[in-house]
Amino acid sequence: MSVNEKRYIKPEFKVVSRWPLTLTCIYCEHEVLPKYVASAEWHEGTLESKRYHSADSHWARKIRVENLIVFDAESEARSRGFKPGKYMRD
Ligand SMILES: [Zn+2]
Repeated sequence: MSVNEKRYIKPEFKVVSRWPLTLTCIYCEHEVLPKYVASAEWHEGTLESKRYHSADSHWARKIRVENLIVFDAESEARSRGFKPGKYMRD
């Protein structure tokens, strides 16, 4: 796993709420509510294990902050090689 792969959350953001998942900019404090989440831990597995999930699913709380990857759009997740999680269509 490269360092870059783990750094999809820009360091200028911090997690202020897990439910709903909310990040804030450390400079201007504007809020960001990502739509999709993934765990960087899964990068150590196979490509098939790279899954993204809706930010309002339980995954938003389950993934540890240091492993949390966020996406604003599914296309962004897909372009990083992530596939929809098992329950994405629920
Ligand atoms: Zn800002």
